[in-house]
Amino acid sequence: MAPARKDFYQILGVDEKAGAEKIKKAFRTLAKQYHPDANRGDEKAAEQFKEVGEAYSVLSDSAKRTQYDQMRSLGAFGIGPDRRSSAHAQGAHPVFSFDDLQGGFGNFSDLFSSVFDLGKQSSAGARKRHRESGRNMEYMVEIPFLMAVRGGKVSVDVSYTEDCATCGGEGATPGTETRGCPECGGTGDILFGQGGFAVKRPCPACFSRGKIPGVPCGSCSGRGAVRQQRKIQVTVPPGVETGSRVQLSGQGEKGRGGGKRGNLIITFRVESHRFFKRDGLNVHVAVPINIVQATLGSKIKVQTVSGQKVVLRIPEGTQSGTKFRISGQGIRKDGHTGDQYIEVLVEVPEELTEEEHRAMEEFATATGMRH
Ligand SMILES: [Zn+2]
Ligand SMILES: [Zn+2]
Repeated sequence: MAPARKDFYQILGVDEKAGAEKIKKAFRTLAKQYHPDANRGDEKAAEQFKEVGEAYSVLSDSAKRTQYDQMRSLGAFGIGPDRRSSAHAQGAHPVFSFDDLQGGFGNFSDLFSSVFDLGKQSSAGARKRHRESGRNMEYMVEIPFLMAVRGGKVSVDVSYTEDCATCGGEGATPGTETRGCPECGGTGDILFGQGGFAVKRPCPACFSRGKIPGVPCGSCSGRGAVRQQRKIQVTVPPGVETGSRVQLSGQGEKGRGGGKRGNLIITFRVESHRFFKRDGLNVHVAVPINIVQATLGSKIKVQTVSGQKVVLRIPEGTQSGTKFRISGQGIRKDGHTGDQYIEVLVEVPEELTEEEHRAMEEFATATGMRH
C-alpha cells in the first residue's frame, strides 16, 4: 500500500476538531463521488477513493484517531520510514504508514457498508456471486386514450438477460471440462486496489464464475448468459393516466444462479385523443352546431368515453361556448366517476345560396338587425 503523504483531515476536508458525525458525513460524500462504480476506469478517482477510505478508517476509530493525532502533532507524518515500502519511498520523504497504527484497519467493504447502511444489496464489495435476486426492470408503455379510460390489455416486449439454458449458466459445452480461472485464481472476483482497502469486482475473464470452460458453450459463446425476448401481457386498469405505474411481481430479470426474479414495473403514457380531453376524472369535448340549432334549439347525439351515444338537448338561443354537463359519463376509477362536459361551438355558414341569402335578408329586416 502506498504510504499516506497527505493529512487525513485534509483528505476528508474537515478540521482537526471535527466530530464523528461530521467526519462520517464528509466520508459519505467523498466516497460516493470517487466510488469506482461511478468512475469506471478512472485511476485518479480510484486512488482518491482509496485515500478517502484510509483517512476515514483512521479518523472514525477513536483509538486510532488519538494515536494519529499524537503522531501528527509530533511532526506530521515524519515518524520513521514506512517499513514495507521504504525501498520505493524515494528516500527523502518521511512518511506515515498505517501499519504504525495499532491493528491497521478493517475490511473496506465493511467500512463502506457500515457508513452507507448497505445491507445485502450493497453495490460495493458485498456482491453475491451465487443466487442473486434479479433486477427490477422498468418499461414505458404507450396506450391509446380509450384503453386508458376503459382498461384493457397490452402486450409488452421485454428483453431479459438470463442464464443460458444450454449450459445452465456455466459457459461450458455440457459434458466438457472446465479449469480454474487464472485471472482471479478461481474466486470469481478481482481485487481492486491493494492491501486492506481492496474492493472486489467481478472477474471479467471468467464472468465471475471462477472457471474457464475448455469448450465454450455454443449458445452463449461462453458467457453463461443470453439475451431473451418475452412478450408479457399487461393488464391496464381502468382510469390510468400518463405516469401511472403497475408492478408485476416476479416478472423482472431472473436472478443469477437461481435467485428469484425481480419485478417488472410498467409506466403508462397515454396518447391524446382527437375529440376527448381529460381533466382528472372529467372528460371534455367540443361539438359544433349550426346557427339554426343554436337559435331554435335542437337535440344532438354525443359520444361518451364508454362508447354510448347520449342525446343532448340544446335549448333555444344557445350561445357559442356554452358548456353542458352529462353527469356520470366521465372516467370511472376506484369507485369514483367523473362527468362529461360538452362545449358547443356555433358555426356560422361561410357561403349562402341565393335563396338562403334572401331568407337571411328577410330575417334581418324582420328582427331589425339591419337598417
Ligand atoms: Zn451457454
Ligand atoms: Zn476469473
